[in-house]
Amino acid sequence: TFQALVIDKDDAGYRAAVRSLADSDLPEGDVTVGVQYSTINYKDGLAITGKSPVVRKFPLVAGIDFSGVVQQSTHEKWKPGDRVILNGWGVGETHSGGLSQVARVKGDWLVALPDGLSTRQAMAIGTAGYTAMLCVMALERHGLKPADGDVLVTGANGGVGSVAIALLSKLGFRVVASTGRMAEAEHLKALGAAEVIDRAELSAPGKPLGKERWAGVVDSVGSHTLANACATTRYRGAVAACGLAQGMDFPATVAPFILRGVTLYGIDSVMAPQALRQEAWGRLAKDLDLSKLDAITKEIALSDAPQAAADILAGKIRGRLVVNVGSG
Ligand code: NAP
Repeated sequence: TFQALVIDKDDAGYRAAVRSLADSDLPEGDVTVGVQYSTINYKDGLAITGKSPVVRKFPLVAGIDFSGVVQQSTHEKWKPGDRVILNGWGVGETHSGGLSQVARVKGDWLVALPDGLSTRQAMAIGTAGYTAMLCVMALERHGLKPADGDVLVTGANGGVGSVAIALLSKLGFRVVASTGRMAEAEHLKALGAAEVIDRAELSAPGKPLGKERWAGVVDSVGSHTLANACATTRYRGAVAACGLAQGMDFPATVAPFILRGVTLYGIDSVMAPQALRQEAWGRLAKDLDLSKLDAITKEIALSDAPQAAADILAGKIRGRLVVNVGSG
């Protein structure tokens, strides 16, 4: 048997608890992985608390990502001993997930752990950090260069935001970090932010167009923040939108798009094609300062996950939480 964080929904209500499972409880799949680390992303917070309908099959093991070592495989690409990463594909939503000591998935979903990263570092990055990389790659493909001007990162103390700051600053961009936790400003500067602004500047209803400030934006917040970020992006600049921490709404006008040629890129990590994932993970191994990653990472045990899920939704978590699933 092995331990897993199981989500149930029945007449007794919606609940998450660490339970012992047997191999017969594992879902279908051609690769069985001994999980070493998982994480708590914002989406895991929604899933474990039941605040949004992320989990759509019950009972289900929570956890949208994991890293570990292949135990068994009938997939041609993987053999026992291979070190692998999984993000998304509905794992932790419709297929049992990574907050478990053992996971069984489709081999087509897995990415090889890049050289230079440990399984713990891969999950310190996790889905949040991999999504930050996808945002940065979208801005690069747009043609954004450090000389073009400032890049805004919203939700700066969150997982996506923290990794985006570290990546962009290492690539030479001048990063402006927007946060609701100004007390963490020094920490954000140590991560690589050149300037820290109060998120209140961006989070209230704004005008269709404002002063041109950003050459590029990484937004994990949505709602008015995303609308205001677009309205203050410079001529022909680009915004990468990946999150909804403020809200799913987008109360904007088309003015930034039709008058300033601003481009809005939508970033999805869950169903992203394999080639893009491999590129993103390869880039993370190369372009992320691992000492900065350590500085934003806190390790917790599987039994701490339910509390951590509530804390991340309450905006109390700074940076990234890795779950050491072996530690009980
Ligand atoms: P996180 O660690 O909780 O970070 C979210 C951050 O947003 C918070 O730390 C906070 O930063 C800010 N925030 C929270 N509530 C806010 C509010 N009401 N108004 C303004 N800002 C607020 O979460 P995460 O794991 O980084 O994920 C961030 C977002 O990206 C989530 O919405 C998540 O679902 C989304 N996401 C999407 C994908 C995708 O595939 N598209 C992948 C990963 C994540 P400050 O304290 O610094 O203000």
